[in-house]
Amino acid sequence: MPQNNEHLKVVVGVEVGGSKIRTGLCREGLKITRPLKLSTKSERGAAAVVGRIARAVRDAVDEADLALDDVRAVGVGVPGIVDADTGSVICAPSLRWDDVPLRQQLEKELGLPVFMENVGNLATLAAYMVELKSKPATVQGIFVGTGINGGLVYQGEIYRGVNRSAGEVGHMVVAVGGAKCCCGNKGCLDALAGRNALNERIREAIKNGEPTVLTDLLDGDMKRIRTSDLRKALRAGDPLVEACVKESARFLGIAVGNIVNLIHPEVIVLGGDMMEAVSDKMFPIIQETARKYAMPGSFDECRLQLSVLGDNAGVIGAVILARQMTA
Ligand SMILES: [Zn+2]
Repeated sequence: MPQNNEHLKVVVGVEVGGSKIRTGLCREGLKITRPLKLSTKSERGAAAVVGRIARAVRDAVDEADLALDDVRAVGVGVPGIVDADTGSVICAPSLRWDDVPLRQQLEKELGLPVFMENVGNLATLAAYMVELKSKPATVQGIFVGTGINGGLVYQGEIYRGVNRSAGEVGHMVVAVGGAKCCCGNKGCLDALAGRNALNERIREAIKNGEPTVLTDLLDGDMKRIRTSDLRKALRAGDPLVEACVKESARFLGIAVGNIVNLIHPEVIVLGGDMMEAVSDKMFPIIQETARKYAMPGSFDECRLQLSVLGDNAGVIGAVILARQMTA
């Protein structure tokens, strides 16, 4: 059982993503110092990833010339459905996790109090606390990275729904019978608009003989197309990458239109590293498509806002969670 650390100020926030584990340390306020990244390596299995999360926390603390004894608590954002009462991750499709007792394992490894939440919920909460000065009553967040995370904040608090999966826009079906998703379903937004999906479309097109500057840029190795490569290709006016990015944006626009019809939030926050990197191409198409799919006249009353928290949104949300739970 972790000791009582309530007198300490330092908290560590962790975002577990499909490809990266991000950590950040926070002394006071919500400014993250020394954000660090470690690859997730989910293919090695849950136990290995838990070990890597613990390592990422230790590294963040060590980088700040502190010790684990100086830390009050750790907040962790996970891309899946989390049972905060039992400390288990019920399912996290992108990590291929089912019933992983993450909190107990991390508390055992670190000897610190650990709190967990869905990472999309945390990122939306972070955007609400840091970026939305008007404190709107209803905010939906959509975060586009390797996959797509989402969350819903209602009256300043995370809205989880009955089975804790509310706000999971990544698994909203936007193309019936569409591409297979990591959750087992077909046509989910995650499977069509995230970076993995986008890269898959680009690779497929290259196989079919379509030219792109990426072939030269990556020296023929198309396994890892990074967001910065997409940016470079767009700057070079690459028609293939531009068409693929626009297609992702159209799927995001359909999701936004559906969200407006279902809950009509005052604000929909669009964030994540991919969104931030190519927002100039995506944002107008998302807007235009959402207007088409929302009920006539309803879209204009909903504000679409780009988050500039970038990679840090989930980590900041995890810091907020750790603070709230130990206040
Ligand atoms: Zn899905």
